[in-house]
Amino acid sequence: MSSFSDFGLLPSILDALAIEGYATPTPIQSQALPFVLAGRDLCGIAQTGTGKTAAFALPILHRLSGRTGAPPRGACRVLVLSPTRELASQIADSFRRYGGRLPLSTAVVFGGVPLGAQQRRLASGVDILVATPGRLLDLIDRRALVLSSVEILVLDEADRMLDLGFIHALRRIVKLLPRRRQTLLFSATMPSAIAALAEDYLDDPVKVSVTPAATTVERVEQRVIFVASERKHDLLAVLLRDPNFERVLVFTRTKHGADRVVRHLVGAGIEAAAIHGNKSQPQRERALAGFRSGGDRVLVATDIAARGIDVDGVSHVINFDLPNVPEDYVHRIGRTARAGAGGTAIAFCSDEERPFLRGIEKLTRVAVPAIPMPAGVPPGMSQGVAQARDGASDRRSATRPQRSAPRNPHRNAGANPPAGHGGGPARHPTQHPKPPSGNPDRHTATTEPSSLPAFLRRAPSPSPSGKSAPPETRQARRAFATR
Ligand code: AMP
Repeated sequence: MSSFSDFGLLPSILDALAIEGYATPTPIQSQALPFVLAGRDLCGIAQTGTGKTAAFALPILHRLSGRTGAPPRGACRVLVLSPTRELASQIADSFRRYGGRLPLSTAVVFGGVPLGAQQRRLASGVDILVATPGRLLDLIDRRALVLSSVEILVLDEADRMLDLGFIHALRRIVKLLPRRRQTLLFSATMPSAIAALAEDYLDDPVKVSVTPAATTVERVEQRVIFVASERKHDLLAVLLRDPNFERVLVFTRTKHGADRVVRHLVGAGIEAAAIHGNKSQPQRERALAGFRSGGDRVLVATDIAARGIDVDGVSHVINFDLPNVPEDYVHRIGRTARAGAGGTAIAFCSDEERPFLRGIEKLTRVAVPAIPMPAGVPPGMSQGVAQARDGASDRRSATRPQRSAPRNPHRNAGANPPAGHGGGPARHPTQHPKPPSGNPDRHTATTEPSSLPAFLRRAPSPSPSGKSAPPETRQARRAFATR
């Protein structure tokens, strides 16, 4: 279906979608809406960025609006489980935006904040409750909530919930739910553990699947800079001095690494905030709000904290460390391709990380072109000094790859750069029909030029801030909708 009105959604929901600027349904929305509206169970393979939140929120709002009477005290009618606090907040926010004119209540509960206010909020009952599993069980244990009135259960980002060790919590929660209910499960991937979960919890589900990992990747202009670990901080500072890096998400592998990046940037006069699991909830919310509003240009995050961050207009994602799980790379760079927009992802790849890069290229079937080191990055100190400075706590022993990695990433310095380097790049990196060969020297390191590569000097675009989206953003949303 090419229009939201084709699904027979309530006029007030259609109005909300018009305000959001959603012209047409995304593929996951087109596929899921009719079935969810009809009350079917559904198993959706879709990653964040595909519009999956609206794919379940819109039909749920439509269905709930038919109910009469207030929700029972200390209970909810719809339960949405999310792996992280940030994602939970964003889902609740989406329900409120799409259903703003309906007489339905939405609440969100997650850990890291006092229980009291959440207990009080639940006392009068809510229509839609979005929760992280741990806090939900805390509230149930304190008798602040019962699940016997749940009519619809949504498990969002189920694969991430399992990754985060929520399987036992999930199993406990599901036992407390009525057997007669509608269940919707969304997951970016379908490993066997998720298939088993779907088998257990869903009743004759419709299966819908959109956007294999590589599709999001294709919208992002990817580049890699080969750089010794001890020069990464200086490289980052040099890149971020360029104002074309308008809104930048920097990924590190560890919490300490994220804090250290912030310290270096602040020391270099570049404002930045970190978001990770060691930060308190108010600190995380402040950092996210500053980034979202455009007040803070640089947010440094770990994978888990970044999961579910929904900020439009991220111009660049910088992989300060390459993840050893290739799917995490895809999730990371997808942060700059929200709502159909494009974006740029730059990976800093040290000698030790080359096997990770090869794994990523194999998954995405895209060879990431290398670009030269920009001018102005001081030569690095010796590895020993760098490690002493960085301290032992954050060494990468846990993820240190095989020894087969070449020891000197710059041994080809001075060789010709691969086609397309440093000039106006092709819109998409080279597509590989087959996985790349794995030859580590295919990515030839190059001499350092006198300025930033032209590719990084994009024309500045207007402020990308979310709600007051510039025409480009709205166009991108429309383009997204017609994909
Ligand atoms: P999600 O996959 O739910 O995290 O959504 C990703 C982004 O797509 C969010 O910023 C949504 O606001 C946006 N979005 C969702 N549905 C549509 C649509 N039909 N048209 C345009 N943008 C959308």
